[in-house]
Amino acid sequence: MIEYDLIIIGGGAAGLFAAARAAESGLRICLLEGMNQCGLKLLVSGSGQCNLTNAEDIRSFPERFGPAGNFVKPSLFEWSNRDLVGYLEERGLPCEDRGDGKIFPVSRKSRDLRDLLQKICQKAGGEIFWKSPVTSILREEVGFTVRSKGKEFSAARVLLATGGKSYPGTGSTGGGYALAEGLGHTVAAPVPALTPVLVRNFALASCSGTSLEVSIDLYRSGKKAGSYQGDLLITHRGFSGPVILNNSRDMAAGDELRICWCPGWDRQDLDRDILETVSESGKKSLKSGLAVRGITDALMQELIRRAGLDPSERVNQLSRKERNSWVNVLFSSSFTVQEMGGFNQAMVTSGGISLKEVNPRTMESRICGGLFMAGEVLDVDGETGGYNLQFAFSSAALAVKTMTAE
Ligand SMILES: Cc1cc2nc3c(=O)[nH]c(=O)nc-3n(C[C@H](O)[C@H](O)[C@H](O)COP(=O)(O)OP(=O)(O)OC[C@H]3O[C@@H](n4cnc5c(N)ncnc54)[C@H](O)[C@@H]3O)c2cc1C
Repeated sequence: MIEYDLIIIGGGAAGLFAAARAAESGLRICLLEGMNQCGLKLLVSGSGQCNLTNAEDIRSFPERFGPAGNFVKPSLFEWSNRDLVGYLEERGLPCEDRGDGKIFPVSRKSRDLRDLLQKICQKAGGEIFWKSPVTSILREEVGFTVRSKGKEFSAARVLLATGGKSYPGTGSTGGGYALAEGLGHTVAAPVPALTPVLVRNFALASCSGTSLEVSIDLYRSGKKAGSYQGDLLITHRGFSGPVILNNSRDMAAGDELRICWCPGWDRQDLDRDILETVSESGKKSLKSGLAVRGITDALMQELIRRAGLDPSERVNQLSRKERNSWVNVLFSSSFTVQEMGGFNQAMVTSGGISLKEVNPRTMESRICGGLFMAGEVLDVDGETGGYNLQFAFSSAALAVKTMTAE
């Protein structure tokens, strides 16, 4: 006897969204979540505030997903950022653009989104089982049998939404890959993505929490290997922020990062600026006389030290050599990558279920009919800025649409 129309495995962003949509559409569903509550990763997303999508035109989303760009198109276009925000607002969760295109719940609480999706699901008759890690999925003549802690559940269809391998404490331990392999799928080796870098002998720990726009040249074995510009976040042990996270896949231990703290400036203009300060207000301290927009006092202090200058000097005491040394530090401070953050620090996982084996127009497996996939369990990873959550929601919505249209 088939108990359910659909069993959803994993109650993260994708699983919860699918559960809400499917239950609302009248499917008999159950959601099996391994942890004692759903959406633990959703709760930490966007520092607990949940950057759930981006205000950018949906047509430019696919390019945020690198090689998976073509795969994500049908689901993103089927269920766009506008559809998502409209859906949530209609159900009582107002959202807003923070001013930089990143969209958050107005309450700035990830929990509100998690609780809303859970409530929609349960109100429409969906059943949620917590502390129910799934250990096997068996393909039967009709439908599937799913096992969890000695219990068996049966359904016509299964949606695998077990996420990736990053932040394993949230329940996303990569266990879903083995479930997919058991049904004949192949899995591209998972590697941490969107990771911070840890820097050798890091001397800017006192500036941790500082965020500013920089440009970075990446050098490997003395050769330039990349150039990036964007917001950098200084941490206790190195660097994070979009310019690092989004380009972390290019970086490796031993690489050199040359950071320019004043992108858009030109060396000569800066030198001229300093000379003007010397002639107009030469008695200023180095910290205020050399101040550059966007660089905090604490960072100024560290950079002055790095340039070998005496912070008690006045601007008009700077020798030409010292001025050059300062300009060099501002334009190219060198740091060596000690190591890249691992799965404990990675925001997402690169790798996962092979995209060739899943139909992007339906989210159904091409290998095992009735098996659907959504979210990060797939070999899809996007940039920071709300793109990963949007894909989790869009792929879940498309999977449910396929099931309800059948
Ligand atoms: C610190 C951090 C901040 C982030 N911030 C953002 C952000 O602001 N915006 C953004 O777009 N993205 C963000 N991300 C990425 C985003 O959270 C993920 O891409 C997204 O949550 C993936 O959703 P998912 O449903 O596919 O997987 P997950 O949310 O990882 O959910 C998978 C669920 O499956 C459960 N599970 C696993 N195996 C089993 C099993 N065998 N049986 C039963 N249950 C199982 C897990 O317990 C988990 O609840 C962030 C990630 C991190 C780590």
